[in-house]
Amino acid sequence: MATERFDAIIVGAGPAGSAAAYTMAKAGLKVVMIERGEFAGAKNIFGGVLYRKQLEDVIPEFWQEAPVERRVVEQRMWLLGKDSVVTMGHRNEAFKEPTNAWTGLRVKFDQWFASKAEQAGSLNIYETVATELIREGDRVVGVRTDREDGDLYANVVVVADGVNSLLGQQLGIHREWNPDQVSLAVKEVIALPKEKILDRFNLEGDEGVTTEFIGQLGGMMGLGFLYTNQETVSFGVGVMVNDLKRTKIRPYELIENVKQHPVLRKLLQGGESKEYAAHLIPEGGLHAVPPLSGNGWVVCGDAAQLVNFVHREGTNLAMTSGLYAAEAIIEAHARGDFGKQALSGYDRRVRESFIHKDLKKYQGLHGLLKEIDSNLFDKLPEALNSAAFQMLMIDGVSKAEKQKMAIKALREAAGGTANLIKLGLKGWRAMNG
Ligand SMILES: Cc1cc2nc3c(=O)[nH]c(=O)nc-3n(C[C@H](O)[C@H](O)[C@H](O)COP(=O)(O)OP(=O)(O)OC[C@H]3O[C@@H](n4cnc5c(N)ncnc54)[C@H](O)[C@@H]3O)c2cc1C
Repeated sequence: MATERFDAIIVGAGPAGSAAAYTMAKAGLKVVMIERGEFAGAKNIFGGVLYRKQLEDVIPEFWQEAPVERRVVEQRMWLLGKDSVVTMGHRNEAFKEPTNAWTGLRVKFDQWFASKAEQAGSLNIYETVATELIREGDRVVGVRTDREDGDLYANVVVVADGVNSLLGQQLGIHREWNPDQVSLAVKEVIALPKEKILDRFNLEGDEGVTTEFIGQLGGMMGLGFLYTNQETVSFGVGVMVNDLKRTKIRPYELIENVKQHPVLRKLLQGGESKEYAAHLIPEGGLHAVPPLSGNGWVVCGDAAQLVNFVHREGTNLAMTSGLYAAEAIIEAHARGDFGKQALSGYDRRVRESFIHKDLKKYQGLHGLLKEIDSNLFDKLPEALNSAAFQMLMIDGVSKAEKQKMAIKALREAAGGTANLIKLGLKGWRAMNG
């Protein structure tokens, strides 16, 4: 690889990197995108729900050609008890037009998105690891790669290398994660005949459903998910890394155990496992978001902790941050100035957008989750299941008596009435900025 000069180098061909590369290449900038995988998406996994709005801002009407799976018409939230479930959810035909979200598989989607950047003029280089930032004084001027003669130079480096951001660490904006700032998600893609998916999930055509569940995760703080694709389902669980350390439960044991839950077992029955992977999710929230730009660099997506874990939104924050970074670089390019001040248009755009506002709304949540006992993630759903069972079982016990039993079960799960009230109040505050 010869030493060459570009307007921008993008490190990482995930949603953030491809959004940035596409936008800048389309505007005529000379860009190169470096990806360590054999192809974009080769090493990437997500749940995965892809949202329309933020990708549409980058590529209008992308759904005409993008490899998406099913249109999400229903979102379910389940609270699992040992052999039971309390269900909530929302299904609406209005989610179809305009489509709110699709399910997707990263191995197909990322390749497509990176190829759009390439068609727009980006030079995409695969199987290449950015190992180091090249600096001149306090300015980033390029990237060293693991290729022979693989130094690349540019006015700006877009750091979009994901949750473990090696380059973020070199910039000093990213430390090793604390185990309570990241969750480890394990995911399996399970093949099922299309007819079975339609039947079991009450769907027709390209309709899809997402299910998230809490409870029965070995006393760990976390969430499970089950999403319908065309001829597969994506099934997985994500739990905090500190809980995995504490319980010593192995991720694959966890996923196997939860699969045996009667409600999930019936939905997955007869499926054939196609893929299995694990990945970290940044869950540090607003307080963990670093400065987003400096002299000759910007940082986007997971590398900047831009994940709204309450709403399982990550790809959309990644794409929007990639788009905003690109817009700021295009402005800087027009002025011929790539210093910190010139690139701060990116920080401003993020600050004024839903990204900052949503992360701000939930900024107290990380602190609260650190404080509460992870076992509550099992105990409270179990108590709600027991309360629902009591109220719905017709056995001659009076309703007033049953209500008392239900409240008692909840109180016990939370460790007393005062704790239950405190938890409710703290939860409310943490979820509201
Ligand atoms: C199990 C799971 C479920 C999720 N579910 C959802 C969901 O349903 N919806 C949603 O919106 N989000 C979801 N997310 C979050 C979402 O996947 C991320 O927020 C999003 O992928 C971030 O995009 P990114 O481009 O910043 O980083 P990534 O997608 O991680 O891309 C980074 C890229 O950089 C490359 N790279 C890393 N280091 C280097 C290097 N040194 N040199 C060259 N290349 C490098 C990697 O190979 C990778 O391709 C989920 C995440 C997980 C793990």
